[in-house]
Amino acid sequence: MTLASTQLASGTLKRLDGRVAIVTGGSRGIGGAISTALAADGANVAVVGIPADRERTEHLRASLNGTAQLVEFFEANVADPEACQRSVNAVIEKYGHVDILVNNAGITKDHTARKMTVEEWQAVLDVNLSGPFYMIKAVLEHMLERKFGRIVNISSVVGKMGNFGQANYAAAKAGLLGLTKTLALETARSGITVNAVAPGFIATEMVKAMPQAAIDIAKGRTPVDRLGEPGEIARAVRFLVDENSGFITGTAFDVNGGMYM
Ligand code: NAP
Repeated sequence: MTLASTQLASGTLKRLDGRVAIVTGGSRGIGGAISTALAADGANVAVVGIPADRERTEHLRASLNGTAQLVEFFEANVADPEACQRSVNAVIEKYGHVDILVNNAGITKDHTARKMTVEEWQAVLDVNLSGPFYMIKAVLEHMLERKFGRIVNISSVVGKMGNFGQANYAAAKAGLLGLTKTLALETARSGITVNAVAPGFIATEMVKAMPQAAIDIAKGRTPVDRLGEPGEIARAVRFLVDENSGFITGTAFDVNGGMYM
């Protein structure tokens, strides 16, 4: 093994000083944990979200104390392609560049397919699948020019195994895996990696909104016998966006307590 290879194998993750990361929906839940993890390691984090995220981003800044200046809010509904482009332009105008994009924003509108309305179907596809595509479109030329980029799409275990009452959500999250692999192929020679993280059931507002019986079933189907923590997803994202993770692309990284293997 060469010295460089040994260092890659044994070294700690590289700090993110000077790196600029966009995290959609990055003020709470899994996104909040991702923003915190990246900012704690020195990245400037742009939280891209809808107006409710603005105030929560302020709370996040406050909770980060010394690194408060590293987290800023930029408004965009990710279902709106022009708003996505505007937010990315604003981030580049402020920081000069973007290195990392984490497509985290997501919603649920659950019903069995029999009862699901076309509006519920469309809304979930718009935010959870088209949103990441619009954000990727907005940063892609910039990353290709710079010959560096780390893109992480937050998919779900549900995108791999399906879930009762979530045809829209499962379809969007499965679609995100196809988008990830295709984009990974298209950018592999340009210093850009594109990966997905597929969480199991994580203790956030999204899951707390589920009926207790459904939460108990999800826990019962998780071999480690608990819900995951947002920080456990952030840890996987942090690893994937590392400068030295350049040989990892096109993966769907399961962080699901063994729920689906
Ligand atoms: P969450 O607490 O509900 O947070 C979602 C975030 O996305 C919120 O900040 C939300 O803002 C934002 N958002 C929603 N619609 C948006 C839009 N149109 N444009 C911009 N931002 C928008 O959810 P979470 O549990 O942390 O989930 C984060 C991601 O992980 C999602 O993609 C979810 O599908 C995925 N995931 C979650 C779990 C889980 O068990 N929790 C499991 C697998 C995958 P508002 O609050 O202001 O609406």
